[in-house]
Order: sequence, then structure tokens, then C-alpha cells
Amino acid sequence: MTLKSFDLTGKVAMVTGCNTGLGRGMAVGLAQAGADIIGVSLPPHDEVKQEIEALGRRFLDIRADLSSLEPIDRIMSTALAEYGRIDILVNNAGIIRREDALQFSEKDWDDVINVNLKTLFFLSQAVGRQFVEKEIKGKIINIASMLSYQGGIRVPSYTSSKSAVMGLTKLLANEWAKYGINVNAIAPGYMATDNTAPLRADKVRSAEILDRIPAGRWGTPEDLRGAVVFLASAASDYVNGFTLAVDGGWLAR
Ligand code: NAD
Repeated sequence: MTLKSFDLTGKVAMVTGCNTGLGRGMAVGLAQAGADIIGVSLPPHDEVKQEIEALGRRFLDIRADLSSLEPIDRIMSTALAEYGRIDILVNNAGIIRREDALQFSEKDWDDVINVNLKTLFFLSQAVGRQFVEKEIKGKIINIASMLSYQGGIRVPSYTSSKSAVMGLTKLLANEWAKYGINVNAIAPGYMATDNTAPLRADKVRSAEILDRIPAGRWGTPEDLRGAVVFLASAASDYVNGFTLAVDGGWLAR
């Protein structure tokens, strides 16, 4: 039996970057809990769409490049024309660039900050306005990182963006709690996705990382499902501005 407050039946969840990796895992988790999904990603979306429709849920496929603010109006109008409302936003789309700080380029700085931080804020603003206008007690879940807490190495724009995401999560939570809107974040640990493929391919770095994870394994997209359903549901109505680590114990070391 599932506690009723975790049930997302009738809710509409927008998930950015849901065609692969963690976003796909979370979109499926939200659909398993009853939500219909709006997927906002670079194409293709076919596999996640099939997976969600096989659960009996609807999937709206919105293809958008989130490296600029340009698609936000279209994303909002398409989503609202189809479903009439958005209840949940998961800001998951994100990129990483690796290079020594001494060599790091302006392009690698701007590209990462634009997707991971600037668009995350302005999409949250658009969805937040819709929550307030329609008096929806909405939920926003931002995807942070271990590098919201730690410095990392060779990823200056990524660390900056993810540290900012944790701060922004608290600011939005503070401003919007009075409307019954919850803004929280999930900080995934080291998860086996495209984002970490270079790290996992490097035998030395991979062994160092695994050695530090008390759970003794890389995380998987499925590991985020419980956390995202909790933060998307009424079960978390009194949780505001918190970043929940799902990291196999990495931060506890
Ligand atoms: P991934 O590379 O598999 O997925 C990234 C997603 O972002 C994809 O769906 C992609 O379509 C989308 N995306 C990237 N640029 C985009 C753009 N310009 N426009 C639209 N969509 C875009 O990696 P992932 O590991 O699943 O990453 C998902 C999120 O989790 C990211 O924010 C990442 O920083 C974060 N994260 C990942 C890990 C990890 O260990 N894998 C750890 C902490 C945080």
C-alpha cells in the first residue's frame, strides 16, 4: 500500500532533459506515481515516451534547446494548450565541460551557466508565475550536484552553476512558500549516465570515486525516483529550500 500523500494522480509534471539519464529515470518515477509528463529536451524522446505511455500516462514531447531563453514562451504555451496546467517542474537538463581552470574558455563558461543556471531560473519564473496565477500549490525540484557542496576539479563552470542552484533553490523557496509553492533540490551523487562516462572510463578516477562511496557502487537513474516523487508530492508540503543528497553516503565521508 502506498501512503496517499505520495500519489501524483491527476498531476502534470514538466521534466527538462528527460530523454536520457537521470531525467528519464525521474520522469518514469513520476509517471509510476500517477503524473502525466511534459518532456522538454533535445531530441530524440521516443524511448521515454514509449515507457511513459506503457504506464498508461500521457507524454507531451516538447523539443527545445535550453541553452537560451528563446524557447520558454513556446514551452509554456504548448504545455498549457495541451494540459491546461503544470503542477510540477523538474529542472534536470544540464551539461558539464572539463578543462583545467588555467585553460578554461569563455564558451565553456557561458554554455554551462546558460543551461544549468540561467534557463533554470527563467523557466522556474515562468512556471512559478503560472502557479501563482492559477493558485496551484506547485512543486519545483532543481537538480543540484555533489559540486553544490564541494569544489571538484577541472569543472569550474559546472561547480559554479551547481553551487548557485543550491542557493537559488533556497531563495525561491523563501519567496514562494507563502503561495504554498515548494522549491527544493536533489543532489545526485556519482551516477552512471552519459554525464559521468569520461570519469567511469578513467580507471584511476573511477577507482578513487568508488572507494569513497560507502554504498560501494555508482548510483542509477532509478535511485532518484523515491526522492523526486517525495518532493513532487503532498508528502513534502512542509519541506522548503532543502537540497536532498542521494549519493550512497558520499557526503557522509
Ligand atoms: P545526461 O547527459 O544523460 O543528461 C543530460 C540531459 O540534459 C539530457 O536529457 C539532455 O537532453 C539535456 N540537455 C542538455 N543540454 C540541453 C539543452 N541545451 N537543451 C535541452 N536539454 C538539454 O546526464 P545526467 O547525468 O542524466 O544529467 C542530468 C542532470 O543531473 C544534470 O543537471 C547533471 O548536471 C545532474 N547530475 C548528474 C550527476 C551524475 O553523476 N550523472 C551527478 C550530479 C548531478
